[in-house]
Amino acid sequence: MLQQTSTARVLGPWRAFLAAYPTPSDLAAAPLDEVLARWRGLGYPRRARALREAAILMRDSHGGRVPRERDDLLALPGVGEYTANAVASFAFGQPVTVLDTNVGRVLARAVANSPLTRAAARALGDKVRATQPSAAFNQSLLDLGAQFCRATPRCNDCPVAAACRWHREGGPDPAPTSAAVSRPQAAYAGSDRQLRGRILARLESRPTPTEFAAHFADVEPARLESALGSLARDGLVDRAGPRLATG
Ligand code: SF4
Repeated sequence: MLQQTSTARVLGPWRAFLAAYPTPSDLAAAPLDEVLARWRGLGYPRRARALREAAILMRDSHGGRVPRERDDLLALPGVGEYTANAVASFAFGQPVTVLDTNVGRVLARAVANSPLTRAAARALGDKVRATQPSAAFNQSLLDLGAQFCRATPRCNDCPVAAACRWHREGGPDPAPTSAAVSRPQAAYAGSDRQLRGRILARLESRPTPTEFAAHFADVEPARLESALGSLARDGLVDRAGPRLATG
């Protein structure tokens, strides 16, 4: 939920989601349209679908529990390196480095003072972490990047300024050209992401095809068709109708 959605927006829906689905088996048993409705406002609904599919795999292959091992986590639908490492480290204390855009900035500036490829950032993170407790180390770097080493850094207040290579040595900012550092997202208003969210919200009330068409009369037909096509490819919309896929 927190990937590219702010904590303030996530907090309420996250609590409600966990109250509705306290275990993977509860989520696995829920209809997809209900899960999508609870995910509303959090962006990227295909993640809700993937999370439910992951819950089904946990129920069927892992005794209803979240697997501890990174390789088992990576085999879950929708789980990539970042999520697998975050769960392995924060939930189970496994010795892995969590590399996100915040951590990428800190490593490129404070440790290397040089742009880093993703592989180089991962290797450097593993080297700096060494034998330190993984969860505390990863949380520290995430917080340092989020609070101080931002896109516009707050070096004067930074607790590691005395040890930071870029702060000491100067030179061009190595962060923007580092591979683990994300570029700013396009505006949400007027975007295809916003249109996809609008479509899913409208389909929750099960409109007739005529009601659906009337609701989107303001959207250019080719753009609406393209958004419906992408939602269908993500398994979120059943084109016969159109209506929400129920999984
Ligand atoms: S001193 Fe500045 S550049 Fe270095 S880690 Fe702190 S905020 Fe980032």
